[in-house]
Amino acid sequence: MSDTPVVLVNCTVADSLRRVPDAAVLIRGERIAAVGPREEVIPQVDAATLVDLDGAHLTPGLVNMHTHFSLSLPGAGGERVASFTPHELALYMADGARRTLQCGVTAVRCVAEKDHADFALRRAVDAGRVSGPRIYTAGRALVCTGGHGHEGSDTLECDGADDFRRGARTQIKMGADLIKVMISGGIAGRHERIDTPQLFADEMAAVIGTAHAWGRKVTAHAGPAAVIAQAVELGLDCVEHGYQLTPEVAAAMAARGTALVPTLLVTRCKEFFDELGVPEWMQCRSLGAGPRHLESFAMALAAGVEVLLGSDMPPFWSFEGTNATVRELEYLSEYGLGPARALYAATLGPARWLGAEADLGTVEAGRYADLIAMDADPLAATSAFRTIRWVMKGGRVVRDDRAGGERV
Ligand SMILES: [Zn+2]
Repeated sequence: MSDTPVVLVNCTVADSLRRVPDAAVLIRGERIAAVGPREEVIPQVDAATLVDLDGAHLTPGLVNMHTHFSLSLPGAGGERVASFTPHELALYMADGARRTLQCGVTAVRCVAEKDHADFALRRAVDAGRVSGPRIYTAGRALVCTGGHGHEGSDTLECDGADDFRRGARTQIKMGADLIKVMISGGIAGRHERIDTPQLFADEMAAVIGTAHAWGRKVTAHAGPAAVIAQAVELGLDCVEHGYQLTPEVAAAMAARGTALVPTLLVTRCKEFFDELGVPEWMQCRSLGAGPRHLESFAMALAAGVEVLLGSDMPPFWSFEGTNATVRELEYLSEYGLGPARALYAATLGPARWLGAEADLGTVEAGRYADLIAMDADPLAATSAFRTIRWVMKGGRVVRDDRAGGERV
């Protein structure tokens, strides 16, 4: 990377704080140095590489808060991933990371990855050996014996409070940024139901207390309201899926500041399941949970719960004419969030949950230059993210569907 600053021009900046038409964004190294109306920014610059964005809308890069680069569902497609050697798995995950960044997802929160390969992937991305988003990861998810997802090396079985403490500490020792715990059954486990409670209160308290003592937040895979209510009371920071919320538990989440990553895609992705050969019983359970899942989402919105973007499906996966990340964001928007809050749920909201708002989530001086440009206006319609054609991470252009910028 040269030391010459870069100025992005001929664009409208849109983030969760403001909208700046005919903006200029000055980038020095990997961070944004100035943003504002073109006539204010340009005089601050001596020599710079000018990049004309052709009237694009420029937003912060997307942050996908529920990803698994090593996902293996039941069925032929998943079995192939589950049978990879460690070397094959690492390369497969690196490929997923590259594809994810190309989609405009400049940061992810991994919430269960196999064999601690996520930590190697994060180091490789940070060192520039692999192209990919910034990775915040939970390492392996904690689960009771036989609990949700116990079949793979992306979970760690624990039983009893002491064991769950050891599990949380083990992930932190490996480098986990957060802890993921499975507190109820789910869609992908044949011998459990979505509403099977799986942890006792002392086990949940052990996970949450240990993680918080070490400065890590906890997110829980959770479906039924009663289990979620108990965990929220114990200080849980985020709920994944939330298939069966009630107005009462939604109100409790809003009052305690517990976020929700609804992953609406997982109960409406038949095309994806068919592609992977996911068996009939799982498809029925998933698609059958869809209407209740949407009711839950509506309750969360009505209560004012903080909603964040997360696809669960591999973030880059081609789906319904776009990729899984953008499709999930469209669903969030369409089912009640609307375009402005959808943009927040994909940028500043995740940055705040991750404690990374000084680095990510807005187009402001001091933040990483993690930016995406698209033809359509994301504040008019969330489908604008289908028109992403340019991606920058840390001041480096990693995708440009046109010819390169103009050097002046
Ligand atoms: Zn998941």
